[in-house]
Amino acid sequence: MEEAGLDAYIISKSPNVYYFTGTISGGKLILTRDDPPVLLTSRLNMVASLQASDPRKIGFDDISLSLYNDLKEKIPNATLMEAPEIVREMRMIKDSEEIELMRRAGALADSGMEAIRDCIGEGVRENEVAAEAAYAMRKQGADALAFPFIVVSGPRSAYPHGGVTERKIRKGEFVTIDMGASFREYKSDITRTFIVGTPIERQRDIYETVLQTNMVALDLIRKGETGFDVHMVAAKLIEDAGYGEHFIHDLGHGVGLEVHEGPNLGKTSKDTLRKGMVVTDEPGIYIHGFGGVRIEDTVLVTDSAPERLTRYAKDLDAMRV
Ligand code: ZN
Ligand code: ZN
Repeated sequence: MEEAGLDAYIISKSPNVYYFTGTISGGKLILTRDDPPVLLTSRLNMVASLQASDPRKIGFDDISLSLYNDLKEKIPNATLMEAPEIVREMRMIKDSEEIELMRRAGALADSGMEAIRDCIGEGVRENEVAAEAAYAMRKQGADALAFPFIVVSGPRSAYPHGGVTERKIRKGEFVTIDMGASFREYKSDITRTFIVGTPIERQRDIYETVLQTNMVALDLIRKGETGFDVHMVAAKLIEDAGYGEHFIHDLGHGVGLEVHEGPNLGKTSKDTLRKGMVVTDEPGIYIHGFGGVRIEDTVLVTDSAPERLTRYAKDLDAMRV
């Protein structure tokens, strides 16, 4: 707050409130320079508490327009300033306690993938696959799913965010599953593409290109590398293999209390990797009408070699069911 010249700061996003207070019931956390922090549950209290400390410059992470207007009206002398980066920066670096929870979230995602391997096959519906994995992860300690499942089979595997349908999986198809577990609010994020039966040459080529890209990028997830550079190396590999136009998203994103948070690994990234960051490595190739492959792991940046928090097998032989 001092660096940003703020006299007061409103923390409103619930993962941010949880980060500082450990409460999942929401509310607004009010910080001023001199007084102890206060967690408020009603807007009336909040405006009164800010009026009392008479701040000139109030920062916030993310507030509604109606609250913004209310503050402008009740504290007319103060300047309101959007400053989400203050908390984003803090949350990007995980301490040892957070890393332990994220290792557990990663292991839970691996166990979900194992359950998927056991149930996936010809004639099984996408929603059944999701149900088996959700059950396995919950039973082993997940407090929630990190986000709604993606199970896309056959031509649907060309849609990176295709959700889940009742479609029956057929022989010879790709099936991509993107999912994660939440353990004490910390998330994991994993994607694997299975192949039902024996892959044809084109499927093999696409799979091996994505796997190779995933492995090369993984080795670059080290302190001092930039999110931009890691993405560009991955994009170049896919382009050189002839699939450049079919890699249609960023290579990765930060994971923590939210499944998408800082830092970013992509074309517009301004982030540099630092020890304690947790990011995904998720190259993909999507061909309309044919299908797609994505391979994603959640990875911890350390002092030396990157540590995978999701460790499920990913070579093509392991993905054949
Ligand atoms: Zn994912
Ligand atoms: Zn992801």
